[in-house]
Amino acid sequence: MSDYRQNYIDGTWCDGGAGRTDVTDPGSGAVAGEQALADAGDVDRAVQAAARVDRAGALRDMRPMDRGRIVQEIGRYLVVHRDEIAGLLTREQGKPFWEAQREVSGAALYFEYYGNQAATVEGRSIPLGGGYFDFTDNEPYGVSAQIIPWNFPLEIASRSMAAALATGNTCVIKTSEMTPLTGAWLARAAEAAGVPAGAVNIFSGWGHEAGAALAAHSGINQMVFTGSVPTGIAIATAAAQNVVPCVLELGGKSAAIVHDDADLQAFENDIRWGIYFNSGQVCSAMSRVIVHESCHDEVVDRAVKVARSLSVGPGMERREAGPTMGAMASEAQRDRAVSMVEQAVGQGARIATGGRRMNIPGAFMEPTVLTGVTPDMAIARDEVFGPVLSVMPFRDERQAIDIANGTQYGLVGGVFTRDLDRATRAARAMRAGQIFVNQWFAGGVETPFGGYGKSGYGREKGREALWNYVQTKNVAMKIRG
Ligand code: NAD
Repeated sequence: MSDYRQNYIDGTWCDGGAGRTDVTDPGSGAVAGEQALADAGDVDRAVQAAARVDRAGALRDMRPMDRGRIVQEIGRYLVVHRDEIAGLLTREQGKPFWEAQREVSGAALYFEYYGNQAATVEGRSIPLGGGYFDFTDNEPYGVSAQIIPWNFPLEIASRSMAAALATGNTCVIKTSEMTPLTGAWLARAAEAAGVPAGAVNIFSGWGHEAGAALAAHSGINQMVFTGSVPTGIAIATAAAQNVVPCVLELGGKSAAIVHDDADLQAFENDIRWGIYFNSGQVCSAMSRVIVHESCHDEVVDRAVKVARSLSVGPGMERREAGPTMGAMASEAQRDRAVSMVEQAVGQGARIATGGRRMNIPGAFMEPTVLTGVTPDMAIARDEVFGPVLSVMPFRDERQAIDIANGTQYGLVGGVFTRDLDRATRAARAMRAGQIFVNQWFAGGVETPFGGYGKSGYGREKGREALWNYVQTKNVAMKIRG
């Protein structure tokens, strides 16, 4: 592939009405490639194409087993090209090459899982007495519009695309203008797998232009968005004008409650993955640790050890899985995280390690641990979306739950203890869509994921996600004679 990526609309590769943008490699500051940018006219063509394919029934009328096979084929294509895609992903997003490889494999899993589920979206028969036969059917909405963020550009696009196609919808996908380059691989995969032309459209564009045009388009039938709360509200507002249902996944400020009987040695691994994976740019990151006061200092020491063990630098030089961290997605995101740390220090928090920009080219930030954080500070309430862990002590269980629940978010939560009753009480009391017990990020593509509160609504992953892409039709039949 060349360094310039076109958009993929109605089965053809095309330039964008809004011109091109340079995509910056955050691991070096150099240009990683150029991307065509869609304007409202391009968005309209993509939606019209997807609507045309939907009306023709190319996917919705296909036998689900056959549709599922095509969906699975998309995943296999990604696996075959894993290392090429991973290299591009590292250059546009900054993550270590081995993390990018895992993202490609993770993206492929969605196509495998939802391809398998295609034939299982069954309806039911409702008894109405002898004179009737009644059944429900689950029909695709039609055109699924999907707006993708920059933290996991391939995996998040695959998550919604796989579920939408498996249930018979067509897709119009806008990638982030910061990380648009790998989108072309998804389009190629769809083409190679035999997805009908026009059924999958993938383009990039500015949020306020192409994103806003897509969210407000009267031809879309369903909307999926992952990103920030303000943008989620704007998108849901636009969709509401057309009475279009949304799935919103808007990040979090997720907390781990660590009790005095927790396995603190094992918890080091949760710190490593929970807050330093993808440089902390994970919506379900473990950004707060609420730890019993008796083991607060030990947990801080262990967190500092984990943070300092990470080798931070260009993702392309970090090819083997291990204690490494890459760049953040942009210098703007890095500077935002650093300034949130500085503000926290101004309010009385202490830096146990890290907290600064790194003195090398690119968007690098030191893995950071903050102590002395109190629940009222911005750092304890707002999403940093960076490698910054806030540690807070608690005295009793009720206080720990109150601190954990004390933000506007509710994406995930965790509890670390050997006591089953404690774990169960916390799992019930924490207001979040997914609770991890004794392992952060336990679960996978099979388990439902999504938020309470301002973390959004609707569920991704698992069978629950399928119900966001179908609507119920009831057929009530009078039997004569
Ligand atoms: P954003 O929500 O503005 O952007 C995400 C996507 O929405 C991009 O594709 C963008 O082009 C599009 N978009 C932006 N404005 C739009 C609009 N008015 N209409 C339609 N689409 C629009 O996120 P951001 O500004 O890049 O990042 C800001 C913060 O959001 C981050 O610091 C982080 O806290 C949070 N974030 C969360 C996630 C997550 O996975 N939950 C992902 C990315 C960012």
